[in-house]
Amino acid sequence: MKVSILGCYSATPRTITNPTSQVLEINNQMYLIDCGEGTQVQLRKHKIKFSRINQIFISHLHGDHFFGLIGLISTFSLLNRPNDLHIYGPKGIKDIILLQIKLSKSYTKYNLFFHELESNESELIFEDDKIAVYTIPLKHRVYTNGFLFKEKPGLRRINIDAATEKNIDVCYFNKLKQGSDLKQEDGTVIENETVTFDPLPTQSYAFCSDTVYNEEIIPLIENVDVLYHESTFLEQDIEKCIPTGHSTAIQAATIAKKANVKNLILGHYSTRYSDIDLFKKEADTVFESTFLADDGLVFKF
Ligand SMILES: [Zn+2]
Ligand SMILES: [Zn+2]
Repeated sequence: MKVSILGCYSATPRTITNPTSQVLEINNQMYLIDCGEGTQVQLRKHKIKFSRINQIFISHLHGDHFFGLIGLISTFSLLNRPNDLHIYGPKGIKDIILLQIKLSKSYTKYNLFFHELESNESELIFEDDKIAVYTIPLKHRVYTNGFLFKEKPGLRRINIDAATEKNIDVCYFNKLKQGSDLKQEDGTVIENETVTFDPLPTQSYAFCSDTVYNEEIIPLIENVDVLYHESTFLEQDIEKCIPTGHSTAIQAATIAKKANVKNLILGHYSTRYSDIDLFKKEADTVFESTFLADDGLVFKF
């Protein structure tokens, strides 16, 4: 699992920082999460192939999380993208994008699908044979969702030595990988576990931005491998959290601890602070495995 941070600062783009966008690579698939202004430039800097992005997840309709979307959609078209593009985001996202496409007469040559979200309960919004994506309802100034990416268990793995010893023909390997026992011609049964290993462990990633401190998300993100949680403010500015719908580093770390996650990545820092190390310092007092996102960083887990 790889998380490329394209941008992780709140509010306006600056020469030195970018608004929220990141690419999650899991199981050889890439998912773009949020698309702040400048995302396509950041994708190029990271040398991420545009053609590998087929799903985009937008948390909410504040500009610092989706103003890059129309630019990216338009560039995909100029590059003669063949693949379909699926966009998951709050209700209204389709109107916003289609109005721009219509008035600029820049209809895409590829198929563009919108999956508009309006539920306040967590729901399964995307799934294939490798991964399932659920919403994480968040509390912010506008309708907002985080996203939980959960790998599905893979197939069992053949124990070649044991299989050879028992003279199992390769044509039965697929059946074994799916977990079946093997009945031999003489009637004896080879139990699956004696010739296979468990599937590789699965991984999970939860993206939670933007939100106030909200313990209701804990059951949804319990035990995830990596939690990205916004931390817009330091403790000295905690009184700004409720009116703006944001969290502090300590609040993010408290959620991480209570949800028993393995790793926490902080981000969405207010640009009022010049030293983001202070976010880690504060979070470390509550949760030990904390990392600081920064534009251009790549995390591998
Ligand atoms: Zn934001
Ligand atoms: Zn916001």
